[in-house]
Parts: sequence; structure tokens; C-alpha cells
Amino acid sequence: MELKVVKPEIVRLQIKEFMNLVKERDNHQLEFLQAVEEVAETVVPYILSNEIYKGKQILTRMVEPERVLMFRVPWVNDEGKIIVNRGFRIQMNSAIGPYKGGLRFHPTVNLSILKFLAFEQVFKNALTTLPMGGGKGGSDFDPKGKTDDEIMRFCHSFMSELSRHIGANTDVPAGDIGVGAREIGFLFGMYKRLRNEFTGVLTGKGMSWGGSLIRPEATGYGTVYFAQNMLKTKGDGLDGKIITVSGSGNVAQYACEKATQLGAKVVTLSDSLGFIYDKEGIDASKLAFVMDLKNNKRGRIKEYVKKYPNAKFIAGERPWGIRCEIALPCATQNEISGEEAKTLLENGCYVISEGANMPSTPEAVRIFLNAKILYAPGKASNAGGVATSGLEMSQNSLRTNWTREEVDSKLKKIMSDIHDSCLEFGKQEDGYIDYVKGANIAGFVKVADAMLAQGVV
Ligand code: GLU
Repeated sequence: MELKVVKPEIVRLQIKEFMNLVKERDNHQLEFLQAVEEVAETVVPYILSNEIYKGKQILTRMVEPERVLMFRVPWVNDEGKIIVNRGFRIQMNSAIGPYKGGLRFHPTVNLSILKFLAFEQVFKNALTTLPMGGGKGGSDFDPKGKTDDEIMRFCHSFMSELSRHIGANTDVPAGDIGVGAREIGFLFGMYKRLRNEFTGVLTGKGMSWGGSLIRPEATGYGTVYFAQNMLKTKGDGLDGKIITVSGSGNVAQYACEKATQLGAKVVTLSDSLGFIYDKEGIDASKLAFVMDLKNNKRGRIKEYVKKYPNAKFIAGERPWGIRCEIALPCATQNEISGEEAKTLLENGCYVISEGANMPSTPEAVRIFLNAKILYAPGKASNAGGVATSGLEMSQNSLRTNWTREEVDSKLKKIMSDIHDSCLEFGKQEDGYIDYVKGANIAGFVKVADAMLAQGVV
């Protein structure tokens, strides 16, 4: 394709004008603006140098959700008290398939957080090569400390409204922070009851009722496969590497498992209270303890040091001060500051593969790109989760179940294809691969071309 050369000052002006337009409408939505700006910085220059997108306002349309649903979620706690939470679903873009994306239950959930996540999801889902549009939803409900009965009543109330707006060919939610197998079960149960149909309307389902093997593992495994793909470009691999992981939930657990299986040593895990440092490495049996602690007992990561006294718990800090070659941020957004990014580099870290969504602040991203390390943004490196959700949807439609090996090999292939797309659009003249640019443009092109074909809708 013939690309026009555009002067840098024109590009800068256009980015500024575009961001002013977004800010005029949503000035207080800081996380959303952050996600949009990161995309605009790489996609606006591409649009300007590419005649087919001229005057089509594709990015202006993409930052405006197709639909935003916001609803009351009343439920009764174990003491008989009525609690009112707020529920959301952002149906961001359906140009290439039904809306697809997780539900997050966390007290910090608001419109800005969910719009940033939905916006990222559009690009991420396009990168998977599967036919999925982008959406996100959730609630400011805090599952911490709630009983199973309370979780069930909340999920049932949430779905009693959401069920009107979703469907296997319309919008297919899944999990995210605070929404795992237990919540998906309760949500699915209420959907089925209200709609009187058994359908693949949610992903992350249990194995006996339509789930896919490898779905629980997929985000964490995919993040590690992506790191492997990046290392391969340097003739390098994971064997013997020291890795810091943040988080201790679903993504962190399976990133730790896969990295360890591939010969690396994971030395940290964290939660909102602090992090554990085990310099001997978190091997399979220690990880089994963590999984039981977090998933069944719903305990805190600091309990790790009671069981393994050689490890340390560092309260109130994140693990980025620990020496490592590879960092896998798998907790949440903005969990690596500019200062922490510098510390990581000073300590010899040269690979970052994001398991979480937007875990690096804009300053951290700039520092990683300027240092020309192997840095993968979440929309590329954590796409394995939603990709496997796409595989779950296919199996549901075909009324079949693929084996672990089949799903895992499809996941590996998708992660390697995403890596190739990043190479196609992100390779610089000096050979450096800018994965941010690559992921943003590759995701954009797929969605933009579909939007062009469908006209102004
Ligand atoms: N919440 C996950 C993500 O951020 C998975 C979404 C899905 O499987 O639909 O991509």
C-alpha cells in the first residue's frame, strides 16, 4: 500500500485536535483518555498517510461507544440489608462481530475504567483474527469478604437486567477482575432461566456446561507465549530467566505456571496489600498452594510466607524493585509508574509482556520504548484469554469439545499470529519492533476496513 509522507508538525497538530475533541466530551474520564491517547499517537499518523481513511472519521466514531447501558443492581445481603450497586455494559464496536469482553466487579469500576477497557478490547479482539467486536461491563460491587450466597444474589440481580441486552449473536460477556468461574456460573444460571435457552452467551463456563479446556489458563499462558515469541526475535528463550510477576489471580497464576514449565524462575506474586518475594522460585507445588489459597480459601498472598518462611512479604509495595530479566504485570491498570520502569531497566529487565490491561503508565511506556527493550502492550500480549473465549464460542456453535492439546495449539498459533501482525506494522527502520505501534495499527486496520465497508452506521 502506498503511504503518503506527512510532516511531523501536522501529525502532532492532528493528534492534539483529535484529543481535544475527546476531552471536550469526557474530560473527567482519565483512564479512557489515557487509552485513547496511546492509540491516537500511533494511529493518527497512519490515518493521515493513508488516503482510504481520509475524511471518514473512523477514529472519532471508534471512541464513541455504540451503546452504553447503566443500570441499578439491588440485592439483599446475609443480614437482610438492601444494597444498591451500579451495573454497566459498554457495547463499544460491533464492526467485525458481536460485542465481546469481560465483566469486572471491583469497587473502582466506573464509566471511565470500563470505557478504557472496552476501547482496548476492540483492538485486542481484532488482533486475535477471530470475528469478535469489543465490549466490557461490570459493577462497583466488591466481591471481597462476601459469602457465596451474597455473590449469587448479586450475580442474579445483575443478570436480571443484563440479560435483556446480550445474546450469543449480540454480546458475549466473560470474566475479568472479580469475575471468575463462580460468578460466570451464577450469571449463566439466571440468563438461562430468564431466556429459557441454553446457549453460549457467556464464556469462561464450567466444563460440564459448555466451557472450553484451557480457557482458565489462556490469558496467563498467552502472555508467556507472547514473551517467548518476542525473545525468539533475538534468538533467546525463557530457560533460566528470572521473572517478576504482579498479581496473584487467574492471569498471574497461569503466567507463573507456564513460565515455570518453560524453565524460567518466577520470584514474585502480589495483591493490593503487597508482594511476596521467593528467590528460590515459585515452583509447581508452591503454585498449587497459591491456587488453593486464592481460589478456594479466598485468602491474601501474604499467607504464602507462613507456609514458606524462606520467602519475604513486602507490605504496601509492588514487585518492580526486584532484579529480573522479564516482568509480567498481571494485576491491574497503571501498576508500573515511570520511576518503577526506570528501576526495572536499571536492574537489567529487558522483556515486559503485559498480562493485565494497560498496567504501564504512559511514562513507563515511553521509558520502555525509548530504551528499545522488548515491550508488549496488553492488547497484544494478553489477547490469549479472549481468543480462547472465541474458541469457546466456536465449540458452542459446533456443539463440540476440543481437547486440551487442540485448544492449546490454536492458542499458540493465535499468539504467534498476533506477534506477526505487530511485526508487520511495528518494525522500525533500525529493526526495532515497536509492539505498541504494531498492535494499534494492526487492530485498527481490521476494524476500520469493516467500518468503511459498512458505511456510516
Ligand atoms: N477480560 C478478558 C480481557 O481483558 C477476557 C475477555 C473475554 O474473554 O471476553 O480480555
